[in-house]
Amino acid sequence: MALLSRPLKTLVTTAAVVLAGLTAAPLARAQQFDQQPIDPSLAIAIASPVRNGAFYNLMILQQIPNQRQCWQEQGQEQGPVVVDPLLLDFDFTGACDRSTDGNGYSVRINGQDLGVQYRLEISPRQNDLVLFARPTRDRSAPPIEIGRTQGRTNDFLKIQLNPGWQMARRTYNGQPVGHIYLTHDAPLEVRLAAGVAPAQGQTSPLPPPPRPSTSTPPTSTPAPTPALPPLPSGAIPGGATASGNHFRVVVPITSGDTLQQVRNVEPEAFRTTVDGQTVVQVGLFRDRQRADEVYNALVAANLPAKVLSASAPAVASTPVLPSIPQGATVVVIDPGHGGRDPGAVGIGGLQEKQINTTISNRVQQQLQAAGITVLMTRSTDVFVDLDARAQYANQAGADLFVSIHANAISMDRPEVNGLETYYYSSGERLARSIHASVLQNTDLGDRGVRTARFYVLRYTSMPSVLVETGFVTGATDAARFRNPNAVNQIADSIARGILNYLGR
Ligand SMILES: [Zn+2]
Repeated sequence: MALLSRPLKTLVTTAAVVLAGLTAAPLARAQQFDQQPIDPSLAIAIASPVRNGAFYNLMILQQIPNQRQCWQEQGQEQGPVVVDPLLLDFDFTGACDRSTDGNGYSVRINGQDLGVQYRLEISPRQNDLVLFARPTRDRSAPPIEIGRTQGRTNDFLKIQLNPGWQMARRTYNGQPVGHIYLTHDAPLEVRLAAGVAPAQGQTSPLPPPPRPSTSTPPTSTPAPTPALPPLPSGAIPGGATASGNHFRVVVPITSGDTLQQVRNVEPEAFRTTVDGQTVVQVGLFRDRQRADEVYNALVAANLPAKVLSASAPAVASTPVLPSIPQGATVVVIDPGHGGRDPGAVGIGGLQEKQINTTISNRVQQQLQAAGITVLMTRSTDVFVDLDARAQYANQAGADLFVSIHANAISMDRPEVNGLETYYYSSGERLARSIHASVLQNTDLGDRGVRTARFYVLRYTSMPSVLVETGFVTGATDAARFRNPNAVNQIADSIARGILNYLGR
């Protein structure tokens, strides 16, 4: 083994120690599961970008033969393979399989379930994204490399598995259950010797998405975790009353980070209680198809979303449309969150909804002073549902829609600060105009103009953007938010960016 350098020998030694630990009690019971290989031409492992590539989740799709195509690959000889997950745009029941619970995937090596000892994680390494099995208990133990994307963009990217790795379905008593293994037949020591640990300081720029501590426990009476039924027409999983005429999309809270993870997909999500259970509610929809699309976006981020039947909201804080002067240029300003939803809460209890209100009101004043008709989705501290915000702008026939938010990561990341401006389709030029103006007129850091499938961007019919005006969890940004002059500067520069776009 001339190639084995010193550090790798150390890895092998560590592996032996890990293996010794593995022969302890829990493993004996894990053997009740078996595995069934998946035809590699019918399955794909995908790095699914969240927040435009701020971090990535693993998504595995399986095509049911002779059914509607679940994904499309844009292959390249060299470099990453971009995947279009077609199933996100249709009801994929019966055509595509995917595990929707957060514990849907785990590692199995040489016939041993390692779902408790290792968790799957996608981390950047140079210009690449690598799928690792990372030890959960001994953080100093080396990760095992399973595959990589061979390049990096902000798209859905195919993870090309390293030699010897394959996907398999977990079986129990000979029956496949809704859980997928990434498996390798060689003993663990061999995998560790072949795996290369990422260099120090090259791990994910964000803390890895937490997995529930109970990830795939090998219990003596394992309950097969059925994949969440992907919305068969008529039946409503998680069923509340069937008499409701709305659809509530929620994600049960499984860890302290669930709310933030859901907000990475849909910034207006908020914590609430439904039928005595604490959940993150993403939205309440009259239209089933819209609920399904939001559900699919959450599922793509590996969040265990549910659609519940619900009655119409008791308190509808739907903004009332005023009369609009003929020929007016109409801009809708959308201050994020409000009422029972504070939005992100940051350093010193700084509340996002207050920042959003302050900035939005000042943007309104500045635009009105320039002769623009400005409509607000809320002007006081009330809760407004996601869909109501988008519909308001559509009903007003607005020319532009600008949603104002403040960002958050985690309280342990005070070094993350800066401006992000999002658009979905037609808002790019507006996004660039606002972004450039804010960077020019404030000292906010530049985190880029990005695309995201946020609801208010997708379902507004005019150019629309969502501005994340800084991080309430960031040391520099939080200090700026506490300075009224600096907050006014942010607002003024957003207004300037809108006026520049309008040629005023
Ligand atoms: Zn927000």
